Amino acid sequence: MIDFQQLADKYGAPLYVYDAEKIIEKYRSFEKAFDVKSLKIHYACKALSNVSILKLFRKLGAGLDCVSIQEVMLGLKAGFLPASIIYTPNNVSEEEFELAIQKGVKINVDNIQMLEYLGINHPDLPVCIRLNPHLMAGGNSKISVGHIDSKFGISIHQIPLVNRIVKRLNIKVEGLHVHSGSDILDPDVFIKAADLIFAAAEHFTDLSYIDFGSGFKVKYKEGGLYTDIQKFGETFSQHFNAFCERQGKNLTLCFEPGKYMVSEAGHFLTKVNVVKQTTACTFLGVDSGFNHLIRPMFYNAYHDIQNISNPDGDKKIYTVVGYICETDTFGADRIITEVRKNDILVFKNAGAYCFSMASNYNSRYRPAEILVYQGQDFLIRERENFKDILSKQMEINVEEIVDI
Ligand SMILES: *Cc1c(COP(=O)(O)O)cnc(C)c1O
Repeated sequence: MIDFQQLADKYGAPLYVYDAEKIIEKYRSFEKAFDVKSLKIHYACKALSNVSILKLFRKLGAGLDCVSIQEVMLGLKAGFLPASIIYTPNNVSEEEFELAIQKGVKINVDNIQMLEYLGINHPDLPVCIRLNPHLMAGGNSKISVGHIDSKFGISIHQIPLVNRIVKRLNIKVEGLHVHSGSDILDPDVFIKAADLIFAAAEHFTDLSYIDFGSGFKVKYKEGGLYTDIQKFGETFSQHFNAFCERQGKNLTLCFEPGKYMVSEAGHFLTKVNVVKQTTACTFLGVDSGFNHLIRPMFYNAYHDIQNISNPDGDKKIYTVVGYICETDTFGADRIITEVRKNDILVFKNAGAYCFSMASNYNSRYRPAEILVYQGQDFLIRERENFKDILSKQMEINVEEIVDI
């Protein structure tokens, strides 16, 4: 058990705390769920991209899924071999692709224009092609990326065009990729997407891997829905092995879980500044807001909230809000043990898409990050200070320049 109160006393609030053992447990459970000849897990690092977290994944034997050249650079900094990094950007420039090619990482192409460009300018470069199977999936429209209007991937209906370009330019297609969207509950969606990809795969003789992206859901509350990874792994492995057998090929099965790996490992600690009773409810005003944790406001996400400073107090109903000058409700009508000024609240499931989406809105500092392993705590990011707010700003002499 991590002593959150002690960490809050030591490092101050607000604070992100990650449980290394939980990440290790999730990684191992994912690995164990699949029974195939060759499996590669590319951790989707946009979920939580602290370089020390990336090093932990490298130690576990993971590869990395990167959506920007900066994530690629972080991955290389963390010691990943270029060959274990897959670069899966969307709508980026030729210049950025060129940088990724220079670094030697695996290249995943998600539009026809880029496929032609790469085929013409890099005739020997093996590529992976991101396909869009047009299956509706995902917890909400912002993260559902596989549907018909989606901007992601090359439409499965454009396979004839892809084929023509690949043949004409003699492109080596080493991988096929599909990422249907986040929050998939139904393994059948994967199976359906898989069958479409398998059909497409028959066109590409150089194929060595198929990457099925992610979308694995974790439990955000008691009784909440989640992907049963063991069950999914069993069903999917059989399906994949049968395909490999039919083709007489030993393909590598790849996945890119982000949320599954780190969501539950993360805890966000905030301090209660104000307990405010109104005619309608009791607000808990904490020293944070959507500048640090935007998921509740952006995705309507549920994060369980507990009072670790008074765990045995009487239960009461509270609405937890932030200090940002806009409505920033973390949770309405939550039942929490009695809260006093300066108590520390912990937000659960704060590992994925929490710190990595934090900003300096309202010119606030981003919090520190702590990694806990075997009872020891390690500072993996310092809290920001006023210097960070000013660091790239240039002060021009408005007094002289502006003539009013
Ligand atoms: C975001 C993303 C993932 C990870 O999704 P999770 O829901 O966090 O597991 C995987 N692959 C790609 C291409 C992504 O953009």
